[in-house]
Amino acid sequence: MRITLAALLCLILVSCGGESSKTDATAEAQPTQTYNWKLVTTWPKNFPGLGLAPEHFAENVQRMSNGRLKIKVFGAGQLVPAFEVFDAVSQGTAEMGHGAAYYWQGKIPASAFFTAVPFGLNAQEMNAWLHFGGGLELWRELYAPFNLVPYAGGNTGVQMAGWFNREINSMADIKGLKMRIPGLGGEVFTRAGGMSVQRSGGEIYTSMQTGEIDAAEWVGPYNDLAFGFHQIAKYYYYPGWQEPGPTLELIINKQALESLPADLQAIVESAARAANQNMLDEYTARNNAALIELVETHGVELRKLPDEVLVELRSIAAQVVEEMAAENPLSQRIATSMKEFAEQSKSYHAISEEAYYNARKINPSN
Ligand code: CA
Repeated sequence: MRITLAALLCLILVSCGGESSKTDATAEAQPTQTYNWKLVTTWPKNFPGLGLAPEHFAENVQRMSNGRLKIKVFGAGQLVPAFEVFDAVSQGTAEMGHGAAYYWQGKIPASAFFTAVPFGLNAQEMNAWLHFGGGLELWRELYAPFNLVPYAGGNTGVQMAGWFNREINSMADIKGLKMRIPGLGGEVFTRAGGMSVQRSGGEIYTSMQTGEIDAAEWVGPYNDLAFGFHQIAKYYYYPGWQEPGPTLELIINKQALESLPADLQAIVESAARAANQNMLDEYTARNNAALIELVETHGVELRKLPDEVLVELRSIAAQVVEEMAAENPLSQRIATSMKEFAEQSKSYHAISEEAYYNARKINPSN
């Protein structure tokens, strides 16, 4: 009992010490100055999950900073179009952006690694690699020439393979399909005989309704229900091999970030970290109810991609990643870091996550 009390007292003393040094730092940082920032996004304004993440981030920053840093959030097209977010923040038109790194794959091929690698890391592993496995440092090195500092800004968890009006029973059924599927998954789909096309979220419904595209992947039940894809497609395929744990990004203009006092920089960093975890929590909580609504109320036909298709896509994905890695030394370092992390994680997850999922399913009669 005495030891516990002594330990508690130590903790209180340590935390008090911490508090007083923070107060000193704030005092040095001119606490009266306020900052007004613009945050541009690739999502429709207030879109569930993805679009609300930057709104909540901005509210948190405003509350934590007692109004010293105010961030106004713009939906896609309000200040700049979805696919101009990167350039707008790089050039300082807006101080911040929220989107997905693979949207900039045309400009920086290796950016795709920081959203998702097909058959690669899941959400838990992406977060672990980014924050404890050297991933974030590599991402910052990749964006440094563009005057940008990236942070992980959300994760949806394993996605769905997408919406189709044709059954996929073999690789032959992919041939000639025009599908909205970005990033490395898109490259794999094209090599598999389909054709990947880039569309922002807000453009998918119309593109599919008009027959401009045949199929589309977006996120998962919660977000796909919000866009109403069940009205224009019959089959909903899983698993989301193309995006097993995609990370969204918060990007900040380097000069804007450096112009903030240290305490506001720390608030931005903590709020980004919270936004990243919060999105995964929300999707985990809401996906299942949305899936039940899609199937039971809207009559969506749920289908699993056949194993032979998954095996083929996985083999093509390995080639795509290898070629991407060979493009330049930084790409190689990113791919190697991710691959080594994935191998370690896979070994331990075989006896932890996987073993537990299996244990939950064991039939007592067997
Ligand atoms: Ca997706």
